[in-house]
Amino acid sequence: MPTNRELGTAIILITHNTALVASMCQRVIVMYAGRVVEEGPVERIFARPEHPYTWSLLRSVPRVDEARKGRLVSIRGLPPDLVRLPPGCKFHPRCLFKVDKCLKEEPELEEVAPGQEARCWVKMSTVSEETRAAAQASEVAFDVAAEIKKRMRSDAKI
Ligand code: SF4
Repeated sequence: MPTNRELGTAIILITHNTALVASMCQRVIVMYAGRVVEEGPVERIFARPEHPYTWSLLRSVPRVDEARKGRLVSIRGLPPDLVRLPPGCKFHPRCLFKVDKCLKEEPELEEVAPGQEARCWVKMSTVSEETRAAAQASEVAFDVAAEIKKRMRSDAKI
C-alpha cells in the first residue's frame, strides 16, 4: 500500500487523545476557543510545551510508563462560552500563570523555537519549576456548579 509521502497527501487527526497524537502524528496543533494556541513537532511540544493550556493538558493525563511524580493537573473551570469570549487571552480565566496584560490583550501566535509557535505573553520556559509547583499547589478545587449557575444567570439576562 502506498504511503502518504508517496501519494503526496496528509492525514489530519482531530482528537483529545494525546497518546494517539504521540504515537501517530508528526506535527501537533493545539486549539483553544477556536484559536491555534500552540503548534510544532510532536516531540518538541510534548517535551517543551510553551503554552499553559498545552502544558496543563499534558499534565492532566495519567502515565503508565513512568513513576508517579505528583498530582495530575486539573484544568479548572469550564470551556469558554464561544458567544461571550473573555477579553484578552481567551484562556486567562483558567490559566495558572496569567499576568495583568493577559486580561486585556490577546497575544499573537509567535515563534518560540524552530518550528514551534505559541500564543502566550508568559510562555512556560520563563516560568520556574518553583512557580509551576506553587501554582499547582495553590490550585483549589474549582466550583463547577457555581460556574454553571453564573452562566445560567448571565444567559437569562439576554
Ligand atoms: S497569555 Fe496569559 S492567560 Fe494566556 S495562556 Fe499565556 S499566561 Fe495564560
